[in-house]
Amino acid sequence: MSDINYLWNPPPVYSLPVHGSDARYPIKRIFCVGRNYHAHAVEMGRPVDKATARPFYFTKSPSTLVESGATVPYPAGTTNYHYEMELVVAIGASGFRVTEANAQHLIYGYAAGLDMTRRDLQLVAREQGRPWDLGKDFEKSAVCSEIVPIGNLGVLNSGAINLQVNGETGQTGDLSQLIWNIPELIADLSQFYHLEPGDLIYTGTPEGVGAVRSGDKITGYVDKVGAIMLTIGQPE
Ligand code: MN
Repeated sequence: MSDINYLWNPPPVYSLPVHGSDARYPIKRIFCVGRNYHAHAVEMGRPVDKATARPFYFTKSPSTLVESGATVPYPAGTTNYHYEMELVVAIGASGFRVTEANAQHLIYGYAAGLDMTRRDLQLVAREQGRPWDLGKDFEKSAVCSEIVPIGNLGVLNSGAINLQVNGETGQTGDLSQLIWNIPELIADLSQFYHLEPGDLIYTGTPEGVGAVRSGDKITGYVDKVGAIMLTIGQPE
């Protein structure tokens, strides 16, 4: 179709399977919310007072996306590679400066996600006031299940979220513990960005984050949304 003569093949469109559909969900951006469960904020040494705080965000490149069930190499540059189990909100309609009351109309569906993190690099950056990219936005760090269309689920405001490593409990929480809930996040993020179909929002992780090693198998679950799996391979 295109007459443009590219030097090499342009990057692919990254996408995810959709439950109950042959169509795939194409990814535009990946937003991640920091410190959105009180107990996790405390375990990271940065408690949150919602009365005075606002949510904050970082991003991962679409090229970091990995589908559930994959095996990923233990990443370069870290000795403290962590899991963070998260509910992912998949945006399916455009919105800018939307209200909390209208936020639901932007939701296409949900997924279970892992915000994999080079914790040592993230914390060095945090302490030095530098960007988090080396700790967060690295290859194969955004793991995601199939997208479950919102259907009759509505705005998820409760439900178990948990993670196991080799079958042993790592994280347990509930979506009711989100500091900023889904409408609040969509409304707030849309003050800064024109949200578009294909934008994913990783909504933050409950307490119990921890390190994994080569050979570990991560499984996780979000009530009403589904499961996620990831195997940690050998270092490259
Ligand atoms: Mn996270």
